[in-house]
Amino acid sequence: MKEFDLIDALAGSEPLFANGLALGIGDDCAVIDGDDLDWLVTTDAIVEGIHFDLSWTDFYLLGRKALSVNLSDIAAMGGAPRFYLATISVPSEYNPHGMIEFYRGMKDVAKVYNAVMIGGDTTASKSGLWISITAIGQSPHGKAITRGGARVGDSIFVSGSLGDAALALGILKNGQEPEGGIKEKFLNPSPKVELGKWLLSTGLVTSMIDISDGLLQDLGHIASRSGVGFEIWAGDIPQTAQFIRTCDEMGFDPFRLSLSGGEDYELLFTAPQNFSRDFAGAFCKEIREIGKIVEDKNTRTVLGRDGKILEFSVGGFDHFGG
Ligand code: ADP
Ligand code: MG
Repeated sequence: MKEFDLIDALAGSEPLFANGLALGIGDDCAVIDGDDLDWLVTTDAIVEGIHFDLSWTDFYLLGRKALSVNLSDIAAMGGAPRFYLATISVPSEYNPHGMIEFYRGMKDVAKVYNAVMIGGDTTASKSGLWISITAIGQSPHGKAITRGGARVGDSIFVSGSLGDAALALGILKNGQEPEGGIKEKFLNPSPKVELGKWLLSTGLVTSMIDISDGLLQDLGHIASRSGVGFEIWAGDIPQTAQFIRTCDEMGFDPFRLSLSGGEDYELLFTAPQNFSRDFAGAFCKEIREIGKIVEDKNTRTVLGRDGKILEFSVGGFDHFGG
């Protein structure tokens, strides 16, 4: 069973809306009604041997990443982080100093984004380190940007560059050492909180998600929730020069990594076509138009530079490998 089929089976019958609940299961955060500001709530776990390997990273960076990936889900709604809770299950043989470093990492990230720790839980673990974080944020009432608002004719935009994190993971799995910038994107990603808030403030963004499982899979979530299809232009997908050079030198397929590789934690959003022209301001260098929303729900197409359809067998990262 695939990860998303399991989530559907477990949680699919829960109401999407209820008294006080503006948006339930299925988006980057749940949204709870407030007065001027609504509450955004999200939780993400990271597990040793699945999401991280302590021979690649250290406890400090792990703490940073654990909180950052949660704040990324708040950024994906256009929200501002406020609070977080951290639950850790720690094998008895671990030196407590490691967890102190882990918390130092979390607190350094929290300081940058004005998030305050308000609780958590601590237990033993029989195998491996297990960490679950719940983050809470806020967004202007009724304005959180969901995955469900993309409209036919909208352009598709993405921030930053794609594929670096998946490339770093591939290189580390081969027992080699990725170069600085590429390794940094994988081990120490930064949540795009300021960009997300700015995008919300424009009032023009119709849908948004953060890229955790790969561009095609995460755009697939926007398409499913919005009831639309999409067309992506492979030649416009942002890739850094270092990424392209390293892929070439080490024999990785840059398009496969950029389209299907996970953990970039960039923002992927839709907005009317003239968005990039009208808002060629503050964040223009950070965002790139990469495709458009189409009416046919079954269209999930990647076009090459020659306009021909590229075939991809890998949809993105699935935790159950289904
Ligand atoms: P993200 O990648 O943004 O963290 P996920 O794909 O993990 O989002 O989750 C999609 C939706 O499914 C979210 O609303 C999340 O809260 C919900 N979800 C995931 N796992 C479970 C679960 N075991 N029980 C209930 N809801 C879940
Ligand atoms: Mg997300």
